[in-house]
Amino acid sequence: MLAGQSVGYRGAVLTPSSAGGVVYHDDAVLVVSPSGTISAVASIEAGRAACPLIHDLRGSLLVPGFVDAHLHYPQTRVIGSASGPLLTWLERVVFPEEARFTEETYARAVAKEFALRCAERGTTTVGAYSSSSPLATNLLFDALRESGLRAVAGLVLMDQRCPEAVRVPAAQALAACREIVSRWHGFDGGRLAVAIVPRFAISCSKELMQGAAAVAAEHDLCVMTHISENPREEAETLVVHPWARDYLDVYETVGLVGPRTILAHAIHLGPAAWDRVAERGATIAHCPDSNFFLGSGAMRLAEARARGVTVGLGTDVAAGRSFDVRRTVACAYDASLLTESAATPAELFTLATLGGARSLGLAERVGTLEPGKEADFTVLARPLHAAGEQGALRAATFAAELAPVTRTYVRGRLVWSRS
Ligand SMILES: [Zn+2]
Repeated sequence: MLAGQSVGYRGAVLTPSSAGGVVYHDDAVLVVSPSGTISAVASIEAGRAACPLIHDLRGSLLVPGFVDAHLHYPQTRVIGSASGPLLTWLERVVFPEEARFTEETYARAVAKEFALRCAERGTTTVGAYSSSSPLATNLLFDALRESGLRAVAGLVLMDQRCPEAVRVPAAQALAACREIVSRWHGFDGGRLAVAIVPRFAISCSKELMQGAAAVAAEHDLCVMTHISENPREEAETLVVHPWARDYLDVYETVGLVGPRTILAHAIHLGPAAWDRVAERGATIAHCPDSNFFLGSGAMRLAEARARGVTVGLGTDVAAGRSFDVRRTVACAYDASLLTESAATPAELFTLATLGGARSLGLAERVGTLEPGKEADFTVLARPLHAAGEQGALRAATFAAELAPVTRTYVRGRLVWSRS
């Protein structure tokens, strides 16, 4: 980039609009200021006037970077480990793997791999769970810092009903959270943010969850957790927390549910619980690939839609089988048909970008290619037959194999390139 001058990127542009719907330009220049914000999506003439340098990406499609609103860094290497429904899978696959993350060399190597896997799939923002190891969480942030990706991430909290190797007592875990917040929250002009991440209600004592809610409130942090993924999990939650009237009530009672809360899965929530999610302004990370892999069921997108609840998409690696948000888009389409919630490609493209940004509280900064936003964008090779707006929508949703990612940018900085 030429210091002090805007840079242009010429190609087809497809973006959700903050006002609703999607906007498509067949041939335009995305003008990026020296500070990495979008100045305009301009005509060729206006782009030439604004930018001494224009990268010629004709034949490509520029879209906002994908937002993966929910995935687990320490599960990077256990993708595809099929072993039954949620609780069995956690016990057999996840907890033994996550126990390895107290080892520095391993945790560091996987953190780098994790950032690379996201960037090469065109993901520019992640809502990432770490393990319960503060060391691994610092190494995750370090890898994200270095990679240039945008992230909301945090230490996973679990102080009961899990193997000793991944269990951390409440006071110790909360002290570690505070240390991680002071070190990383707001890093690089807000590119990195720290979230409070109680794993799920079964593995958290009431004391831990109340302390977690206090830290979140103190620093105005996102809260990320799981809810109503599996019927057995739901039943066990109420055995562990018999004072709660339902699963959501566990989190409500301890003060963990508000506009900054991102609830993953939400498959088995009843209508009244959905109403309370909406009233509290909480958002949903919809993880359909993971839900199919663990046989958890299909979330009813119509419930969220009917109540205006914000939804983002999460690959939920490693119950999700790919880092590719477009695979999650495809599964979200299947889930929408199965639950009488039929979604359009434009709606799913919006969930995969702006929806995720809204869910993570980042919609002022990213999620669309509009002036004033930070220039997080992904370049897709566009197959010749995918012409016009409908072709662009296919490339940006279901035709991932035909339209691979060639470049990924965050704030106008190239963070990954195919060549
Ligand atoms: Zn998850």
